[in-house]
Parts: sequence; C-alpha cells; structure tokens
Amino acid sequence: MKLNAKEVHLRGAALCRGIAIGTPFFFTVIEDVLPEFTLSKHEIEQEVLRYTCAVNLCRKDIEKLQSKLEKEGIVEGASILEAHLQIIQDPLITTEIEKEIRKTQKNSEHVFQTAIKKYEQKFNSIRDPIFRERFKDIQDLSRRILGYLRNSVRIILTEVPPGSVVFAHELTTSDVAEARPENIVAFITEAGGETSHAAIVAKAKGIPFVSNIKIDTLDPRVIERVIVDGRTGGIILNPSLESQEYYQNLSTQLSTHFRVLQRAASYAPETIDGYQVILSANIDTPEEVDTAKKYGTSGVGLLRTEYALLTRDGLPDEDSQFALYRQVVDNMPNKAVVIRTFDVGGDKMLINFPQDNEAQTFLGCRAIRFLLKERDIFKTQLRAILRTSAYGRVKILLPMISALSELEEAKQILREVTEELHQEGYQIPHTVPLGCMIEVPSAAIIADLLAQQCDFLSIGTNDLVQYSMAVDRGNQHVNSIYAQTDPSVIRLIKLIATEANHYGIPVTVCGEVAADPRFTPLLLGLGIHELSVSPRHIPVIKHAIRSTSIVAASLLAETILSLSTAQEIMELLVSEYQKNVPEDCFYNY
Ligand code: PEP
Ligand code: MG
Repeated sequence: MKLNAKEVHLRGAALCRGIAIGTPFFFTVIEDVLPEFTLSKHEIEQEVLRYTCAVNLCRKDIEKLQSKLEKEGIVEGASILEAHLQIIQDPLITTEIEKEIRKTQKNSEHVFQTAIKKYEQKFNSIRDPIFRERFKDIQDLSRRILGYLRNSVRIILTEVPPGSVVFAHELTTSDVAEARPENIVAFITEAGGETSHAAIVAKAKGIPFVSNIKIDTLDPRVIERVIVDGRTGGIILNPSLESQEYYQNLSTQLSTHFRVLQRAASYAPETIDGYQVILSANIDTPEEVDTAKKYGTSGVGLLRTEYALLTRDGLPDEDSQFALYRQVVDNMPNKAVVIRTFDVGGDKMLINFPQDNEAQTFLGCRAIRFLLKERDIFKTQLRAILRTSAYGRVKILLPMISALSELEEAKQILREVTEELHQEGYQIPHTVPLGCMIEVPSAAIIADLLAQQCDFLSIGTNDLVQYSMAVDRGNQHVNSIYAQTDPSVIRLIKLIATEANHYGIPVTVCGEVAADPRFTPLLLGLGIHELSVSPRHIPVIKHAIRSTSIVAASLLAETILSLSTAQEIMELLVSEYQKNVPEDCFYNY
C-alpha cells in the first residue's frame, strides 16, 4: 500500500451489514469492448436463439414506439421508424448473422459487431451523404440489439481473486448468487435497494453490501485498499493503519459475539415465558440446508426455486427439478419444506428466455401471473413438486397472489396435475398443503377470503412494503421511502395475522423483517408465531425470540399500533432492542 495515499470517506446506503477490509475489484462492462468467445457445438443453436430473441425484442420496441408516435401525430418520426423496421427484417440482420454464428461458432455480439463494422466501411466509401446518413439508422438499431444481447450475456463473479471488494454499477441477482464469499468480502454498487434480490442473496451469504456510491467518480488506479462498513453505509478508500486496526478489532468483536449466538443453536426458539415459535429457513439451494440444520432450524419455510433457473441457461426439466427438491426434502426428514413455485419477473429474469420488456417490471407478468400464462412451465414444476411430496412433508407456496381467482385457477391446475400423476401410477398424497404468499395489498385486504381457500399464508414483507408504498425495492433513489416500519405495513401484517389465526391456518413472515431482530418482539406481538429467515440469521433471531416474553411483545405491538409514523416506530423498536444487546454488536450480522 502507498503509505502516503490519503484516506477518503464516502457514505452510501447500507444494504447488508458486517465489516469488510479488502482490495478493490472493479466489475464493470466497458462500452464497445464486447466479449468474444468460441461456442461448443451444443451451444450454437442456443446462441442463435439468443440472437433472434434480441432482434425480436428490438423489433417489438420499435413497433411500440412507432404506434405511439403515430397516435401522437408525429408522422415524420413514425416513418423513420418504418425504415428501422425494414432494416431489422433485412436478411443481413437476420439470416446472414445466424449463418455466421453457425459458421464461425462465435458468440452473437462478436459476429454482429463485426458485421456492422463491415457495413460501416462500405457506407463510408459511398460519396452520397444521404446514403451515409442511412448508416446512422443501422448504428442506432445495432446499439439497441447489442443492448438486449448484453442484458442476456453472462459475466460471472466466480473468477474474482480472494479478499476482493467488488465495485460495480449494478449487480444482478444471478451475479450475486454465483459470487463466492471465500473470494468476495464486500460489494459496493451505484444501484440497489435493501430488499432487492441481489441484496437478499448477499445478506444470506453474509457479504456486506453498500449501494448509492458513484462508481464513475472513482479512479481504480489509485485505490489500493477499502474498508466497507455495511452497518452505516460508510466506505473508506485507502484507509490509514489506524482505521484498519480499528475496523479489524470491531470485526473480530462482532465475529466473537456471532459465534456465541451460534453455539446456542440447540436451544428451542421459545420466549422467556415458554411460548414456542417456529423458526425455519429461507433457502435458495439444497446446499444451504446443512447450515440451517446446524443452527437448529424447524424446517424450510421458503425454498426460492427460481434460483435454480437464474444461474443456468434454459429451464430445467421435470426430472432435474425433482432431483433438486428431493435433495432438500431428503436432508430434512420429518420437517416441513415449503416449496415456492417460480417467482420470475421483476429483478429475477430468466437467462435467454424470450420474455418481453413488460415482464421485467415488478408490476408486470411476474410470479403467479407468469405461471398461469406459461402453463407448461407451471405444470412441469407442480409435477416435480408433487412427486417430491411422496418423500417428505412438502407444502406448495404460490408467489404474488393478488386476487382470489388466481388461487382458484392454480388450485384447478394442481388438481389436474395430481390426477395425471395418479393415473400414471405415482404414489403421491391426494392433497398437499397449498399456501399463498401475501405480498400485495389486495391480497392482504382479502386475507380472510384467501385463508378460507388455502392451507397457510406466508407474508412477504419485501414486496408488501414495495407494493403498499409504491416504492421500487431495488431503486436506490427511493431507499429512504422504502419504510418497513410504516404504519400501513404494520397494520397490514396485523390484519393478515388476525385473519389467519381466526380461520385457524398457520401464518409465517418470510420477508427480510423476519431476519431483523429489532422486529422480532413486534411480529410475535402482532400474532405471528412462525418466522422464516436465511440460515445465517437463525442464531440471531433465535436469540431475539429467547430474549422476549409474549406478554411484553403484545404490549409493544399495542403501543406500536398507536404510533403514526415510520420513524417513531423504528425509534421504539431500536430502543427496545438495544436493551438486550451489547452496544457494539447491535444488529450487525
Ligand atoms: C418477500 O417479498 O418478502 C419475499 C419473501 O419474497 P421475495 O423476496 O423472494 O420476493
Ligand atoms: Mg416477494
């Protein structure tokens, strides 16, 4: 380290807690330098499909834009786009590129960009300026197509050297899912919200994460060491030896406290006055079951099946899904395993799956909407889950239910699939418990109706906050409005818990508030008796449960329900929590 380098303090938004000290690794895609690689024989047709998807998405974009301009009476603009549509259908852009991918066995970005460069040379040699001008249309189109290809190109974080603090503009959920905690000690990005799926995965892996840092203003050549304080959002570039020593000590202290909590794994998750809580694990992969068991989990409260899709090309078939679910169930004998059907859309997009733009929004064709539209995908997954149910205590959970009709439609499909499997001779139970994720206000408001039609409810607070407050969970610009303690959210949780308890069905909270020990007494006081958190958070939440009494929790919930702002509620939760935890260790895991 350059001893004379001056330390620089920056402040971003704290997404995942913990302290890290490491060397910077800039994970950015540089404009114009596109990847070039050779495909293996079996990858060629998949690559052609990726290219045609990008061209089709681009064509749809232009068509949409054209009809918008027509409606607005901007005739000139619409006719320019007509020219774009002609170009995009030209064999030079379609069949010729496809042939070239097959011939050269190179990736589509490379083949496409090489072709565009050739056209550029040809157009430049033409004297007529009108023709030369036409090339701008091609350039415009090619940027759009490359943009789509770039969205689907996968650059992975597995190659990062050990001890790296990764700097990036934005990280996708699959980037973080593939990151190895042995190598990556922290993430620093420009974009990202606290309950974005990328942040949730980082938190589950125990990797500190700070967003809202302007990456472009940093010069990678002069940063040699970085401290990340994931509790406060503080970043120190080129820290002094004193700063490094201070944070090193703090980090050791936090690890010691965490180890003490881990050692209490065999204790039951019960309150001081003996009230039993069910504390289960949220997992993305079968490998996480071991950690969950080590910490004494009550079961799997949420298996996010979509992660099996996010890190691979194409959809897994029924048998490979069955194998994956069985791995989890076999490793959880006699314990409930809640398998959530694919929650794709929003910030969890499938690689190389032809979905249109609209599916990429949180309000679009996400989760159950996608599954009811893509029936074959839904049925294949249900078949795999039902086959697994012959081997353990499987429950099925439907993501993002927003109306009773969706539950009814899903139930009908489930009946059909069960019937099919029986006819095929599979020995599976006649019914498997079916639950609804409550993460949309409309579902919370009709919790009584849903509770009468299903077997359990699971509250996804990450989305419930997003949809109640109309604030994008992944958008760093609105982080401060994304308030998990807003009275509207607390009242909705209360409503859902009351209805579930009234109709005698279990209700779990599996959103990130369940993994935040400051919320534990409040949730218990609101009538929630089941929590599901990432395995890493089980010791901390178990400790929080064991530090409260149900009487105190009920009184706290009553007081909180009488407060009127998110800030007042947070202040009260913090002061109550601080009574139980050493100050330096306060909510740091
Ligand atoms: C939630 O929304 O709280 C939830 C648990 O689901 P996910 O985070 O996967 O959207
Ligand atoms: Mg959700």
